[in-house]
Amino acid sequence: MTRICKKCGFENQDDYDYCAKCGTPLVEGLRPKQVYVYNAQPLQVNKKAIIASYIATIFLSWSGFFVSLITKNNLVATFTFFGFFMPFFLVQSRHPTLRKHGLIQMGISLVGVALSFYVMFH
Ligand SMILES: [Zn+2]
Repeated sequence: MTRICKKCGFENQDDYDYCAKCGTPLVEGLRPKQVYVYNAQPLQVNKKAIIASYIATIFLSWSGFFVSLITKNNLVATFTFFGFFMPFFLVQSRHPTLRKHGLIQMGISLVGVALSFYVMFH
C-alpha cells in the first residue's frame, strides 16, 4: 500500500508521514514540516543553502581554532562548539541528502573541535 500525496500526487511508502517529494503531511492532523530554514521550497534541496550551511559549519567550528591560534587566547577555542549547531540540525532532517550533508559537517566540526583542543592544551 502506498500513501498518495494529495498535493503533488507522489506515491509514498506507507510508513511515510510526510510526502517525500513535497513535504506535505500524509496523515491528518500533522502540521507541515519545515525541512530547511533557508529553503523556500519544501523538500527540494537548495544547493545554495547547502553551501551556506557548509560555510557556517566551517566558520563556526574552525574559527575558534584559528582565533585561538592567532590571539593565543585558549578560551576562544570553546567557541568551536557552536560548529555542531548546523550538522546537528541537518542530521535530524527527513531528507536523506540533508542528513548526508549533516554527517559530513559533523565530521568537519569534529576536526575543528579536535584542532581547538590541540591548541587549548599545547
Ligand atoms: Zn507531495
